[in-house]
Amino acid sequence: MKKKGNIKYKIINFSIILFVLIICAYVIYSLFFMNKFKIDDFEKDLVINYGSEFKSSHKVCYGNKNKCDEITPTIEGEVDYNTIGKYEVKYTYHYNKKELVLDQIVEVKDISGPVINIKNESEIIACPNGKNNIEIEVTDNYDSEVTNINQRLEDNKVIIEAIDSNNNKTITEIEVTVKDEEKPKITINGSKNLTHIIGTKYSDKGATATDNCDDKVEVKTSGEVNKDKEGTYTITYSAEDSSGNKSEATRKVTVKEKTPGTRVIYLTFDDGPSKYTNELLDVLKKYNVKATFFVTCKGDDSIIQREYNEGHTVALHTCSHVYSQVYASYDAYFKDLNNVKARVKRLTGYNANIVRFPGGTSNARSISPNISMKTLASKVLNNGYYYFDWNISSGDAGETTSTDVVYSNVVNHLKSGTSVVLQHDTKGYSVKAVERIIQYGLENGYTFERLTPSSPKIRHGAGH
Ligand SMILES: [Zn+2]
Repeated sequence: MKKKGNIKYKIINFSIILFVLIICAYVIYSLFFMNKFKIDDFEKDLVINYGSEFKSSHKVCYGNKNKCDEITPTIEGEVDYNTIGKYEVKYTYHYNKKELVLDQIVEVKDISGPVINIKNESEIIACPNGKNNIEIEVTDNYDSEVTNINQRLEDNKVIIEAIDSNNNKTITEIEVTVKDEEKPKITINGSKNLTHIIGTKYSDKGATATDNCDDKVEVKTSGEVNKDKEGTYTITYSAEDSSGNKSEATRKVTVKEKTPGTRVIYLTFDDGPSKYTNELLDVLKKYNVKATFFVTCKGDDSIIQREYNEGHTVALHTCSHVYSQVYASYDAYFKDLNNVKARVKRLTGYNANIVRFPGGTSNARSISPNISMKTLASKVLNNGYYYFDWNISSGDAGETTSTDVVYSNVVNHLKSGTSVVLQHDTKGYSVKAVERIIQYGLENGYTFERLTPSSPKIRHGAGH
């Protein structure tokens, strides 16, 4: 029994061993010798970058370990790499009568960040607050323009971060030299050498500062000008940037006493009042300049009152201003003059005694067979009047209708002593030049005065 049983076991053992051997043989065969499809690097779900050409990277061959023939597939389905989306691609491989089909989903997606290009060729300098001279060019495969670009300074590196619209981020670090040795630049408003005449309007126009690093730099002003006391004063403007660089600029202000008879401008306006006169009075008020108005019987009463109340000289130019009437006889002249004098007296209570002849003492148009200007002028003086002509003509009596020409006619002919300027407040374009004339005068050491009986007698001289 025992022997029989041993044989039985031996048979079973042998069978197991044989079975194992067969399996091993098969495994060895299939591993090394059996022919089949072999797939390398296949991705069922493949992501490719937007804009980069699509190429499948997997390979399929048929054969065994020793020899495997690469197979070119037939491909169905197209991938548009310039359009974001998912695409199905089918690869079919044939080897003899055997067939293999691979299905792939290709997703076109923007997966690359912007490209940051530094264009500087020379040293890059950064301010301690991060402001720098880096010239950056940022391009992207998907965005035509990348707007989300941030910079920050960390130690001696500027870190630039660019993010595209699909949230792909690129970070670049650039080594920089961190320093701020530049002083703020101060610009003085107005003249650096100012002449101020006592009694005229004074104001300091200040200064501004700019800096290579700081967006805003405060300017501090020191030094005082006593606008009522003669002398030379210095105003100092100082500025300090956030790195402690300091700079200074100074303005020299010469305060002078107003010297009568020296560089005095008498602005005189004939033929008014008119609709332009109030505008003119506003300008004169703004600069605290007094002028002289040779009025007629035209215009609003209230304007003559305003002229008088605001400290100007209301003077007489005749009532009618009609040459043939005014100069018809000596009596006719005084009758006309008295008419306008009465008007001024009625409106202001004041006895006007400053006179200007229509056309001036030298005007040929005033020639009349009945009178001589010379005689008329002395009669006027004998009657207690003071008459004035002018030595600067603005040209507004007919030569020009341009504000610019009026302005240059006046400022280009200013005298070093007394300037009596003839303008007409009946001409809007002429009135418009007055503010600039005043500004020019004040900035160049002139004073403005109104005509009074003691003013220098600027007269043409009566020729006949
Ligand atoms: Zn006139």
